Amino acid sequence: MTKRKRRRVKIGDMELGSGRPLMMAGPCSVESEAMIYHIASRLSKMGVRLLRGGCFKARTSPYSFQGLGEEGLGYLVDAAKKYSMHTIVEFLTIEQLEKYSELVDVVQIGTRNMYNYPLLKACGKLNKPVILKRAFSATYEEWHLASEYILSEGNPDVILCERGIRTFEVATRNTLDITAVPYMKERTGLPLIVDPSHAAGLRELVPPLTYAALAAGADGFMIECHEAPEKALSDSRQSLSLDDFEKMVEVLGCMQDLRCKERD
Ligand code: PEP
Ligand code: MN
Repeated sequence: MTKRKRRRVKIGDMELGSGRPLMMAGPCSVESEAMIYHIASRLSKMGVRLLRGGCFKARTSPYSFQGLGEEGLGYLVDAAKKYSMHTIVEFLTIEQLEKYSELVDVVQIGTRNMYNYPLLKACGKLNKPVILKRAFSATYEEWHLASEYILSEGNPDVILCERGIRTFEVATRNTLDITAVPYMKERTGLPLIVDPSHAAGLRELVPPLTYAALAAGADGFMIECHEAPEKALSDSRQSLSLDDFEKMVEVLGCMQDLRCKERD
């Protein structure tokens, strides 16, 4: 494996890959104006500055909730502005990118679109960070080359996201590939975050997987949370309650303190 120079990606006044992990959180889908304002208000008090919220959803079933689209995007952008947060939104098509990417801070390419090369090339023309999720069936090489589709078009701000892969195990939604964290950071030099929510599919596994990801060197994490997880219109079973997310952030704070003490 050739060792690459480490790259950092700026998001507002924050930097991914600086050694200080960044927290990204929010609902799987923006469901209403009140809901996203409430979540943004709680998360911002916990120190989360990157707000995710799906507006255009890539659902397995065409009969499942597909997101609020442009309406949801408006709510998300306004809520983020009110609480001084930055937005992360997934786009599914080049048309959506062209129409809406100016409005968001970070573009997300989901697992199902990692192999959509025209969409990746269009991301390469953007002037903003792109989170490239690993396809659930992708090898490291395929994922690496997908990132090159964006980089080679001129956008240096690619953030890799390990979100679990499909294995023979069916008890969990996917299997979080922890090996990907140090391996892909070394191989590509790109910052890498972990999404333990889609990896596990079960909310009780989200905190321990997050701790493991950070211990393995992840530059941040993206977690789905909801004010009433059991009522979430998408990915309900994996959504953390805001209270449980807060508890996790407290544990993470203690871990960080421990490390500082040891270093001093
Ligand atoms: C999501 O982030 O809500 C999502 C659909 O993720 P993935 O593409 O990893 O399934
Ligand atoms: Mn989701």
